[in-house]
Amino acid sequence: VWYFFFTKMPELPEVETIARGLRAPLGGRRIMGVRLGKTDFMEEPARLLRELPGSQIAEVRRYGKYLLLDLEVMGQCRSLPPDDRACLLLHLGMTGQLTLGDPAGPVARHTHLRMALDDGRELRLNDVRRFGSVRLLGPAELESWLARLGLDPLEAREEDFSELLGRSRARIKALLLDQGRIRGLGNIYTDESLWSARIHPARRAASLSRSEAHRLWKAIRSVLTQAIRLRGSSVANYVDAQGQPGEYQRRHRVYGRQGKRCARCGSTILRIAIAGRSSCFCPRCQPLVGRAGRNAR
Ligand SMILES: [Zn+2]
Repeated sequence: VWYFFFTKMPELPEVETIARGLRAPLGGRRIMGVRLGKTDFMEEPARLLRELPGSQIAEVRRYGKYLLLDLEVMGQCRSLPPDDRACLLLHLGMTGQLTLGDPAGPVARHTHLRMALDDGRELRLNDVRRFGSVRLLGPAELESWLARLGLDPLEAREEDFSELLGRSRARIKALLLDQGRIRGLGNIYTDESLWSARIHPARRAASLSRSEAHRLWKAIRSVLTQAIRLRGSSVANYVDAQGQPGEYQRRHRVYGRQGKRCARCGSTILRIAIAGRSSCFCPRCQPLVGRAGRNAR
């Protein structure tokens, strides 16, 4: 059986869907062998070859937009108890795909990581553009590495979110995309959340009123929760671990809908660039003028 993950720019809901789908098939599996293709998007490829074989996958989880495989690394003698822990971090970039299946099956072009498992299957990472990343970290390295990422919108407290907004001079769209401040959001879910909260993407974060910040917090959590429930957005050929396409793209209200009508007011959805990223929004539902009009240019 093959499991395909055809993702395009996976964000929090897509990575969460992948983590949930892989948890059962990968949990407890031992990695028997590793083969690498191009390694220019991997940190310390020699370490992957040295430390992955013989290790056991203890847990599969998401952290921001990263997929984490917690490993129990075995020493030379594999009958001994685990002598160390490590974590394999995968970022799928723009074109990363993970497949789990028959090692004798045809190998797709651009397959750069193959891990043979003790149940006879093989986990493969395919990445055409190699904007993703692969790294293996020990416990202390992992802790400091993850500490560079900001708060998780599904786990953080609302006070921490409001405080973050209050001390930021960035535009709200740029702040939401900044993984060092908030982890897991990308272009799709920021646009959807801002539309839902009726906040213009170019507003300065600190200019949001208390009620606007509250609305945005609720909107982000609701959008993400619904997207996870619908297994993410199939913007490309996205198929989850059970072979089902994500369905959240049918719920997109602004993302990729420039020129179409706003589902709430009928105005034409516009697209502008903010901090180098495109933003789709409704000019009527999401006016640029904030409190006292200080955001107007
Ligand atoms: Zn509207």
